[in-house]
Amino acid sequence: MADDSGHQRGRGSGAKAGQNNERDTIIRNKLRDGSLRLYELDRELAPIDAIRVRREYIEELTGAKLENIGIFSIDVERVTKRNCENMIGTVQVPVGVAGPIRIKGGHAQGDFWLPLATTEGALVASVNRGCSAITKAGGADVRLLRDGMTRAPVFATDSVAHAVQVCDWVTAHRDELRAAAESTTSHGKLSDIVTFVAGTSVFVRLEFDTKDAMGMNMVTIASAKVGDLIAQGTGARLVALSGNMCADKKPAAINAIMGRGRSVVAGIALTHDQISSILKTDAKTLFEVNYRKNLVGSARAGAMGFNAHAANVVAAMFIACGQDAAHSIDGSTCITTVDQTETGAYVAVTLPSLPVGTVGGGTGVDTQQECLKLLGVAGSGNPPGTNAKKLAEIIGAAVLAGELSLLGALAAQHLARAHQQLGRG
Ligand code: NAP
Repeated sequence: MADDSGHQRGRGSGAKAGQNNERDTIIRNKLRDGSLRLYELDRELAPIDAIRVRREYIEELTGAKLENIGIFSIDVERVTKRNCENMIGTVQVPVGVAGPIRIKGGHAQGDFWLPLATTEGALVASVNRGCSAITKAGGADVRLLRDGMTRAPVFATDSVAHAVQVCDWVTAHRDELRAAAESTTSHGKLSDIVTFVAGTSVFVRLEFDTKDAMGMNMVTIASAKVGDLIAQGTGARLVALSGNMCADKKPAAINAIMGRGRSVVAGIALTHDQISSILKTDAKTLFEVNYRKNLVGSARAGAMGFNAHAANVVAAMFIACGQDAAHSIDGSTCITTVDQTETGAYVAVTLPSLPVGTVGGGTGVDTQQECLKLLGVAGSGNPPGTNAKKLAEIIGAAVLAGELSLLGALAAQHLARAHQQLGRG
């Protein structure tokens, strides 16, 4: 239902609102006297009406007007079931496009327009400049290094001797554990099991090929089955299905070293002319900025990321493409390198941990799915897994564009000027 300005105020809510005033009043009174809880609205009303009544009740309680949060076009039937509880509307994040960027990947090949959802002025312009440099230089080489989503349950044992017995039992029963894990999913494959001991605690890091899914739900369900078998077989007590050696949504060296999700490397050879005409600097300065900032500065800071702003691009692509935004923390562990060459410079980014998918999670939300379609990776790949691999390579190339541009801006001493012109009202 469109309002005077042509906006959607939730699909179909206007018509129903008029017909159900009496019902809404009864429900509001129940919310006020506590006999109905906010989350129970979904049981009483169609999703679109539950969203509206919940929002109006919150407006009444807080005095805040939430009229823009109430404007949206996404299919809330789906979203309220799969993606968001206690929904009151949506927050709109501007989406800009950067490109075209030429990619010569193992899975992504061709010219792409990158959707970037951000409120950071200058970010899209910066990535756009990097795309231009990459495309003029013939396209980024991108490769997937490895692919595996992990869950690491933690078990309590009686002694260090028992802890080692548990590890040995896991090694001896790999096939049985694999069969149990794979009985819970028609797509997931258990690809590796690594055990770690810390005193009487045993961590079993299970790694899965999740095909086109990012896979956290998939591997958590499969790991529960494996965890029960290990507990039965060893007498160890399963304490938590996630023992933080997974490591999910925490900056962790294990992800940076062993990889988690999709691991990607992307690189581009730039000539002296390209560095000078597009980035307005030279190879020597580019090398020095990367060395002193991204490598020495990051080491001195004790950082786990040796890059300029990889998480900026990862977060913007993740939000646009329906990925779990909390995983943009993994993007921050990128290492950016610059090699000086006879003809110019070779700039590369190594991203050990990109948990991405093209099915499941937020990838089916209408606006996010449009962004995946823009990249040609919505839904299942043929064969399964190829779309998610392609998305990971595209994001790797996008990060390379962002790194190139920011390094160039710093080398040319342009950073403050760009933000002054583009990032401020
Ligand atoms: P999901 O929404 O649970 O859907 C994934 C399922 O899609 C797969 O298990 C698979 O079903 C099915 N599928 C259909 N076509 C597929 C294909 N081509 N490739 C792979 N799978 C295909 O998503 P998920 O990726 O497992 O998990 C992502 C969600 O987990 C996000 O919403 C994220 O926010 C959330 N999350 C969960 C946890 C947790 O601990 N549970 C932690 C962090 C994030 P079958 O398995 O039946 O084959």
